[in-house]
Amino acid sequence: MQLLDGNKIAATIKQGIVDGVNALREEHGITPGLAVIIVGEDPASKVYVGRKHKACEETGVYSEVIKLPAETTEEELLSTLDCLNQNDKINGILVQLPLPKHINTERILDQIRPDKDVDGFHPLNVGNLGIGREGLVPCTPNGVIKMLEISGISLEGKRAVVIGRSNIVGKPMANLLLSRNATVNICHSRTKDLAAVCREADILVAAIGKPNFVTPDMVKPGAIVIDVGINRVDNKLVGDVDFGSVKEVAGAITPVPGGVGPLTIVMLLFNTLKATKLQLGLPESC
Ligand code: NAD
Repeated sequence: MQLLDGNKIAATIKQGIVDGVNALREEHGITPGLAVIIVGEDPASKVYVGRKHKACEETGVYSEVIKLPAETTEEELLSTLDCLNQNDKINGILVQLPLPKHINTERILDQIRPDKDVDGFHPLNVGNLGIGREGLVPCTPNGVIKMLEISGISLEGKRAVVIGRSNIVGKPMANLLLSRNATVNICHSRTKDLAAVCREADILVAAIGKPNFVTPDMVKPGAIVIDVGINRVDNKLVGDVDFGSVKEVAGAITPVPGGVGPLTIVMLLFNTLKATKLQLGLPESC
């Protein structure tokens, strides 16, 4: 059984980002900039925003954290986004979710300039992914793909099953796997005989939000099992996969914590660098 170590893989990707940021600065005099907006006082959101800011500092990306009070109106948030859309120092914009209930999240995400949309949630980026033009792609599923690539796991012709159909993880994950020539099934809360579908998978991705949901009877021996879930149980983080028992059946598996999580943040920086290059008209490889 191969343990897919997210921290190690994230460190490799991060080094590439540091090199890319340095090259942009030296050759073009540009420092990529990321703005993260947080509205309100949600404790988990504050932790995530803090980690994003720290990751920017570690890679040389300029970072602005914009903290707005919980009572900020939708119009005020839209006008903050307009300013950031026009700000040349800012190449990537991220609005930390969830937003307070009085704000229409869709309207906010639609307002972000698509070429600064480092979360990849704008309909233009979602549509491009759907037709196989990968521009700014959602960080978590893109991180899973990078993890598979770096680990030397090929997707061509493989049976992949994604449990979960959210816009943030499940659907983009399925599109990315499909573009790499996997044969993809998407399962969800209404799927009949879920275990039987999962047992078909050479690559099983769990993005459900239910602790220890995937058990060994759902896993084909030797399958690659990717656990996207983050659940808090008795003050400990656990995934959607029952790691202890599934690791005895799987060919490779991600732990929680230390699996997909570390890749999500690094892919945000990857997207910020990519967005900067897009805006400068530079090829991605520069
Ligand atoms: P979501 O709640 O938006 O979607 C969950 C999906 O699971 C839904 O499509 C639903 O149909 C499916 N589902 C629910 N119950 C099911 C069942 N009994 N059988 C089959 N399918 C079922 O969640 P999300 O935003 O996609 O996140 C999923 C998990 O991934 C959460 O634990 C979340 O915290 C985690 N997550 C982790 C990262 C990371 O960086 N590792 C990033 C985003 C989300």
